[in-house]
Amino acid sequence: MTLAGSAPATMRASVLNGIGNLAVEERAIPQPGPGEVLVRIGSVGVCGSDIHYYDHGRIGRYVVDRPLVLGHEAGGQVAAVGAGVSTLAPGLRVSIEPGVPCRSCPQCLGGRYNLCPNVRFFATPPYDGAFCEYVVMPEAFVHAVPDNVSDDAAGLIEPLSVAVWACRRGQVSPGARVLVTGAGPIGLVCAQAAFAFGATEVAVSDVNPHRLALAGELGARPINVSETSLAAAGVEPDVLLECSGNARATTDAIGTVARAGRVVLIGMGGDELVLPLPYVQDRELVLTGAFRYANTWPTAISLVASGRVDLDALVTGHYGLDEVEQALTASRRDPTTVKAMVRPGG
Ligand SMILES: [Zn+2]
Ligand SMILES: [Zn+2]
Repeated sequence: MTLAGSAPATMRASVLNGIGNLAVEERAIPQPGPGEVLVRIGSVGVCGSDIHYYDHGRIGRYVVDRPLVLGHEAGGQVAAVGAGVSTLAPGLRVSIEPGVPCRSCPQCLGGRYNLCPNVRFFATPPYDGAFCEYVVMPEAFVHAVPDNVSDDAAGLIEPLSVAVWACRRGQVSPGARVLVTGAGPIGLVCAQAAFAFGATEVAVSDVNPHRLALAGELGARPINVSETSLAAAGVEPDVLLECSGNARATTDAIGTVARAGRVVLIGMGGDELVLPLPYVQDRELVLTGAFRYANTWPTAISLVASGRVDLDALVTGHYGLDEVEQALTASRRDPTTVKAMVRPGG
């Protein structure tokens, strides 16, 4: 394997060594084995899960008990390919699908590889993520992007994939009325994806006026639930895409869903939910979770390349590898932050 251009032996990586403790360290550049691709990281989105690991050192049963590189929303450029790689070549711009399933368990064989219990997922202990200069991935999980997809957007194909998957789970179809609860990055890509799937009315609820304004700019109807209730706003969605992770907001929103409607639970944070059972029964609502995604990258890339979804509109700041801490705390310090991006190359 040879690196294009000059060939450094080490790279810089931002390493989480404990709660609130980040350091930039030199690490060996990983080598692509047969069927693998070395990607030089261009841009990486900061996700709520990265912030949670930084603040708390764990998410549920996943505990950061050894140094961990965060970041899983990554794009970049192919730097080298291992033996047998046929679809990618050095220099191609790419988006990385950050979870590699086992490809042999019943869920993988059933086509639901997002439910693989053996998945190796970026920035989920013990697997390192992409706040570093280079990563190695199997060829099948590295997707070429056209030139009109920006470096930031190549990274943000990952959260858009969450939205594409949620729209599929919720069967968003032409003419659908959709309510998105929560106007964070996932809510905003869900609103855009819903339009792309044919929804004609998309409402987005939140309490953050900056994020609601952005939802409005993206074509959705913003509803500030600190000023008006969903019931008073008169929404009656066919599909609820729940992105707030707030149990109370979720219960309120479920109580507005139309007959035979679908509820997709995407947001994390709420542990338990008060469910209005008669309402769910009488209206034959379907409730489902949505966990990551499967087979979404080609769709998500097409939506961005065709201009149907604007990911660059979400980006509110860029940070170098030395500034990952600022990137992770940006939304806490500044309520106008939507999506912070880390650019390991500076
Ligand atoms: Zn994410
Ligand atoms: Zn599997």
